Amino acid sequence: MTSTAPTVTSATTPYPYAAPFSEALFDRALEVTPGGVNSPVRAFRAVGGTPRFMASARGPWLVDVDGRRYVDLICSWGPMILGHAHPDVVAAVQDAATRGFSFGTPSENEVALAEEIVSRVAPVEQVRLVNSGTEATMTAIRLARGYTGRSVIVKFAGCYHGHVDSLLAAAGSGVATFGLPDSAGVPASSAAETIVLPYNDIGALEAAFAERGGEIAAVITEAAAGNMGVVPPGPGFTEALRRVTSAHGALLVSDEVMTGFRCSPSGYYGLEGPYAGGPPDLFTFGKVMGGGFPAAAFGGRAYVMAMLSPVGPVYQAGTLSGNPVATAAGLATLRGCTSEVYDRLDVVSRTIADAASSQLTAAGVPHVVQWAGSMFSVFFRDAPVRNYDDARAQSTQAFTAFFHSMLSQGVHLPPSAFEAWFVSAAHDDEAVDSVIRALPDAARAAAREFDTIAS
Ligand SMILES: *Cc1c(COP(=O)(O)O)cnc(C)c1O
Repeated sequence: MTSTAPTVTSATTPYPYAAPFSEALFDRALEVTPGGVNSPVRAFRAVGGTPRFMASARGPWLVDVDGRRYVDLICSWGPMILGHAHPDVVAAVQDAATRGFSFGTPSENEVALAEEIVSRVAPVEQVRLVNSGTEATMTAIRLARGYTGRSVIVKFAGCYHGHVDSLLAAAGSGVATFGLPDSAGVPASSAAETIVLPYNDIGALEAAFAERGGEIAAVITEAAAGNMGVVPPGPGFTEALRRVTSAHGALLVSDEVMTGFRCSPSGYYGLEGPYAGGPPDLFTFGKVMGGGFPAAAFGGRAYVMAMLSPVGPVYQAGTLSGNPVATAAGLATLRGCTSEVYDRLDVVSRTIADAASSQLTAAGVPHVVQWAGSMFSVFFRDAPVRNYDDARAQSTQAFTAFFHSMLSQGVHLPPSAFEAWFVSAAHDDEAVDSVIRALPDAARAAAREFDTIAS
């Protein structure tokens, strides 16, 4: 494993450090793939520069094709909770792979993974395994529509639920704004079935239900928002969702694709639940439960899950669903998530967040750190963020300068101001110290770029 001493960048010469092998790969990728990437955020569009192509990863470290080593604060956007190439997960994957990649028949690991999920999240009585979080939310919505016989879905601005047509509507604030598609190719008819409300706004929720309650199949929410940066539900918000949906015969879908098995052994539900009015009807999971492989799930109360094919009339299927290698990785990862692992996540995230905050303060950079369990993010503004409008009123210029300074010093943050910073239990003192050493320069770079923001 080679690692080159990184060049510290200055604000006037933004990104002088070379990454010739990544640049060459990016050029090749741009020829054959739109934007050179297979998921948009990877393209560095928000921060500029060349995305780093990774060659390998172990524990808390990423190594790029130029041989430079980075402390990983993306962790594959959550799944790598045990760190990269954890020996137990590697062994489970190798063992599964030698016994065949995919059968197209049921296999034992699927049952074991479903049991593991059901035993952790009390309100989840049954699950169906799928390949991505997008599939999980897409099917949860279909199931809610099939169950209620209604079509309208309520979601919250700034919450991401995968690239499902009806859930890409995120624009619009104020009471009962009709969703406008955020993406070309989403039919207006699909977006029109979506009501987008401001997160953490109980009044807007009540108003929307007062007007259209009889048409609403479900409210879908991130258990704690993590896709606009970390914005936890305010006191009573989730209970209000439960109360209002129950009163109108709509289902509540809690999207725990990001928070599930990360915020606690039973996800954000484990931190916030049980709720006075009862649990959400459906949950969606992904990320951690796949251990870095394509595995996700949706599940919930048995009376709702009974609507699903082959038992009920709501169809859903998947050639690779419950894949034996993916389920082996997911099982080994969940079984590896011991209380020591969660304790370490707490320590690592608090240490990094506290150090970032004190360096930003020292450099005079307005910022706020927000939490959902051990999940956190840093907003470059001086007031708390309760919803998407708040999240957008931050200095993305300051973040960009901060990001590139960290990258040049060997710390790979998510390349966007609107993402959580992910750590793993493999982030040892060496990795944490590397982050802490990079922070003063990054904070000064942010201070130089801090622009005036509307707040
Ligand atoms: C990542 C994510 C999804 C989508 O999952 P994919 O596996 O990327 O399709 C859905 N919901 C939430 C909350 C997520 O964080």
